[in-house]
Amino acid sequence: MASTLLGRFLRYVRIDTMSDSSKAGTIRPSTSGQEDLMQLLRSELEKLGCSVYYGPEKVLQGRLEGNSCGDSIAFMAHVDTADDVPGNGVVPVVHSPYSGGDIILDGPEIRVEDNPDLLRYKGGTIITSDGSTLLGSDDKAGIAIIMEMLSVLSSDKSIPHPDIEVYFTPDEETGHSLDEFPYGKMKASVCYTIDGTAEGLIDVGCFNAASASIRISGKAVHPGEAKGVMRNALQTAAFIAQALPRTECPEATSGEEGFYAVMSMSGTAENAELSLILRDFDKEGLEHRKKVLGSIAENAAMLYGTEAECSIEDTYGNFHDVVVSHPYALTRLRNAACSIDLGIKEQMVRGGTDGAHLAVHGIASPDIFTGGHNLHSLSEWIALEAMERSLELVIAIARGN
Ligand SMILES: [Zn+2]
Repeated sequence: MASTLLGRFLRYVRIDTMSDSSKAGTIRPSTSGQEDLMQLLRSELEKLGCSVYYGPEKVLQGRLEGNSCGDSIAFMAHVDTADDVPGNGVVPVVHSPYSGGDIILDGPEIRVEDNPDLLRYKGGTIITSDGSTLLGSDDKAGIAIIMEMLSVLSSDKSIPHPDIEVYFTPDEETGHSLDEFPYGKMKASVCYTIDGTAEGLIDVGCFNAASASIRISGKAVHPGEAKGVMRNALQTAAFIAQALPRTECPEATSGEEGFYAVMSMSGTAENAELSLILRDFDKEGLEHRKKVLGSIAENAAMLYGTEAECSIEDTYGNFHDVVVSHPYALTRLRNAACSIDLGIKEQMVRGGTDGAHLAVHGIASPDIFTGGHNLHSLSEWIALEAMERSLELVIAIARGN
């Protein structure tokens, strides 16, 4: 099983699927490599005996018919990779057997001191890039695990399972993965996302998220003749950024603490613009942050004699409530983990997942680990043994014991 999973993973990471945030939302998928991977997966699904739907939503759906009764269950992963660092032209490097020491690549160094989880896999198999790109385990590992599960279930008829649906989405890293989704084709009411991190971690909730844009209008005049006349928009923006609580920024928060984060600021005395993101696990907490930001902007504008227009949009919501009100998804997962002696840790993820969008439609979607570490960076690594545990878990979930 291991060698097939590894081969599959290495095949997928070599396909260039970095998404393009400047095009996502307009062109779907935003890059042609994502379409290439969708087409490859489509033909692999067909070879495994799945029926396939790939319509205008550009979400690939596969369905493997069940051989036992029970409601359909679904699994989901995304085909694109992040653009935080170069993500195309990935050359995977397999470190096997892994010695247990630091991994020195051409550029980044993956030190045991900073990555204590590496020691769990001494003697095992670690996969990295060559150091010039990310690896793309986020989320090619999720895809490989799902495809391998289908391969196991379709070749071993002795494993009982209900109808299995799988979904592969584009442009997750740009926040556009579920702009469109074939809800009408979906029969499952639970959908496990395979897009998590370290072995054993299960995301059972995520942030409530909003993005804010503040446009400030001021009045520019010659600085030498500005006294009592100039109203500085850029200065207002800087004041707003500075007035946010310093203990509530991303670099000062962890666990279940929320934050305000300034993402960009630009402008002149005449006009300025500030964009921010707000995050909070608590819905009311997020509403409070919106009010605080609004009043800071209002006060700053008053102080500088400018005008500030603050618009705030919700981006995604915490799916924890839906996981709690539909306990079947988590119960099935916990039982499955128990049946393979896997210790799991349920946590709230400090980000969003595709499951947050499904939750709006009442679909419970816990997020399962892939084993990936240092995601979106040149020092990304994954252990084959962690991917295998994730594969065992999804097969046990499919089997339903
Ligand atoms: Zn991901």
